[in-house]
Amino acid sequence: MADEREASGHCLCGAVRFTATLVSHDVQVCHCGMCRRWTGGPLMFVDVDGAPAFEGREAIGIYRSSEVGERGFCTRCGSILFWKVAGEERYTMAAGSLDDASRLALKTEIFIEDKPGFYDFSNATKKVVGSEAMGAYISGSGETN
Ligand SMILES: [Zn+2]
Ligand SMILES: [Zn+2]
Repeated sequence: MADEREASGHCLCGAVRFTATLVSHDVQVCHCGMCRRWTGGPLMFVDVDGAPAFEGREAIGIYRSSEVGERGFCTRCGSILFWKVAGEERYTMAAGSLDDASRLALKTEIFIEDKPGFYDFSNATKKVVGSEAMGAYISGSGETN
């Protein structure tokens, strides 16, 4: 059912709201050093089919964190909203920004080689090195995100 993939979400202060079509309810975790700096921990995200529809777009800040990636956040409350492929309408939304987490399932951990030793997830996940994970988003071998 396409309807089950329709999702809504918003930032902490509510200045930015969105609706998006999820590719699936599979959640990925990124353990890379950039996500760690950005989030304070690992980034949990879901892949989106096409571009989300945003309300409050003027409150969205974009940080171009690498050649391949852009990170979107609310400039009023600082909430993390998305990572996207720079220059393309390929978005992943922060899992925590979604209104309904009831169908989400943690499936994959990426940049597993960068995971710090102080935590582990007990979920049975597919563990993927960064270069392989980025290959899903970029043709060629992206080393950074
Ligand atoms: Zn906000
Ligand atoms: Zn990352």
